[in-house]
Amino acid sequence: MNNAYIKSVLDQVKAKNANEPEFLQAVEEVLETLEPVVEQMPEIEKNAILERMVEPERVIMFRVPWMDDEGKIQVNRGYRVQFNSAIGPYKGGIRFHPSVNLGILKFLGFEQTFKNSLTTLPMGGGKGGADFDPHGKSDAEVMRFCQSFMTELAKHIGADTDVPAGDIGVGAREVGYMFGQYKRLRNEFTGVLTGKGLTFGGSLIRTQATGYGLIYFADNMLAKVGDNFKGKTCVISGSGNVAQYAAEKLIQLGAKPVTLSDSNGYIYDPDGITQEKLDWVKDLKTVKRGRIKEYVAQYPNAKYVEGKRPWEVKCDCAFPCATQNELNGEEAKMLLANGVKLVAEGANMPSTAEAVSAFLEAKILYAPGKASNAGGVATSGLEMSQNSERLSWSAEEVDTKLKGIMKNIHDAAYEAAAKFGMEGNYVAGANISGFLKVCNAMIAQGVV
Ligand code: NAP
Repeated sequence: MNNAYIKSVLDQVKAKNANEPEFLQAVEEVLETLEPVVEQMPEIEKNAILERMVEPERVIMFRVPWMDDEGKIQVNRGYRVQFNSAIGPYKGGIRFHPSVNLGILKFLGFEQTFKNSLTTLPMGGGKGGADFDPHGKSDAEVMRFCQSFMTELAKHIGADTDVPAGDIGVGAREVGYMFGQYKRLRNEFTGVLTGKGLTFGGSLIRTQATGYGLIYFADNMLAKVGDNFKGKTCVISGSGNVAQYAAEKLIQLGAKPVTLSDSNGYIYDPDGITQEKLDWVKDLKTVKRGRIKEYVAQYPNAKYVEGKRPWEVKCDCAFPCATQNELNGEEAKMLLANGVKLVAEGANMPSTAEAVSAFLEAKILYAPGKASNAGGVATSGLEMSQNSERLSWSAEEVDTKLKGIMKNIHDAAYEAAAKFGMEGNYVAGANISGFLKVCNAMIAQGVV
C-alpha cells in the first residue's frame, strides 16, 4: 500500500485510537483495499471522506444500574455508537457480553456501515451493547437489566433515527424486554427495534436470516466456480443464532455439518449434524440455555474437545460463526493444509489479519463477514419496511427477497473486485462496493 493520503489517515487513526486494537484492525483492512478507488477519485481526499468515515458521528456511553435476585445493586456500562447516517437511519445490533468495550463497538459500527450499504437498503451504520453477561442470569434479572438499559437508550433511538437489533447475547428474549420498555416510556408502538417477536411486529425469517444468508452467499461463490454444497463436509464454530441457522441451511442443501462450539470447546459429530440433532441443539441453547458439551451425552458417537476451536477438523468448507478473531494465522494454515476450499464468515471479523492474508494468498473462496453475514441486517431492513406499511409478508416472500439480496451482494462484490483488477478477491470487492455508495452520499450532503 503506497497511497500517501491513505497512509496519513491510517497514521491519524492509530495515534488517536491506540488502545482500540479491533477498531484499528477493521479500519486498516478496509482502507488498504480502497487504494485503487482513492487513486481514481480525487474528490475522496478533497472532501476528507476517509477522515470523516473513521470518526463516529456520535458515541453515547451510560450507566446501567439494576438489581439482582439477591437484592444487590449491580452496575454495567452501556453504549450506542452512531457511526454513519449518510444513507439511512443508524442500524446495527446490540451486544451483551463481558468483553464489550468502546473499541469493539467502534469496529462493529464501522463494519456495519459498509455492510448496510452492500444490502442496497437505506440503512446507516451503528452498534451498541453493554459489558453485561446474560449467562447464568435468571429471566427476571435479564428483564431488569434490559429495562434499565433501554431507559437510557430510548432517549437516543427511534424508528427514523436509529433502529437497533440483536447480536451476541441479545436474542428474541432481550429484544422483547427492550421493546416493551421503549413502548412504555414513549407511549408509541413503532418499529424501533428489529428481531421482534412475530406477534408484535417481527418479520418471519429474521431469526434464520443471518445463517441462511451466509449459506446463500457461499452457494453463490460455489456456483461461480461450477460447484455446490452436495456432500461437502462443513465445520462451523459457535452454537448461537448464526451457527444454528447456517447448519440448518447446509443440511437443506445436502452438505454435512460436523462441528459446533462455544467459548469452552467444540463438539465433532463424524456422522453429521442432522435436522433432528440440530432441533435438540436449538432447544438446548435457546430454552434450556445449556452448554454445547451436553451434545455428547445425547449423541455418544460425537466427541467433545475442551478448550479448543474446531479448525483442526478436516473439511471442505469452514464457517466461523462465533466472534471476532476466533481464527488465527496458524489455524488458517491448518485449514488450508487439510484442503479447505471455502471459508465464509458468519461472525464479524472472525479471521485475524494473518488468517485473511493466508486465505487470499491461497486463492481459496473466502468471504468477509461484512458481505456474507449481511442477510441478518438485510432482513431487519425488510422488517422495518413491513412495520412502516403495517403489514407482514409471508415466509416465502421474505426468504425469496433474502436470497435475491445475497445474490446481489455477491455479484456486486465480485464485479467491484474484477473492475479494479482483483477478480475473486471478495474482501476488496465488498469494501469497494460498500464504500462507494456511502462516499457519494457524503459528498452530496456536504460537510456534515
Ligand atoms: P449468539 O446467539 O449470542 O451466539 C454466540 C455464539 O458464539 C455462542 O455459541 C457463544 O458461546 C460463542 N461465543 C461468543 N463469544 C465468544 C468468545 N469470545 N469465544 C468463543 N466463543 C464465543 O450470537 P450470534 O447472534 O450467533 O452472533 C455470532 C456472531 O455473528 C457475532 O460475531 C455477531 O456479531 C455476528 N452476527 C450476528 C448477526 C445476527 O443477526 N445475530 C448478524 C450479523 C453478524 P458462549 O455461549 O460460550 O458465549
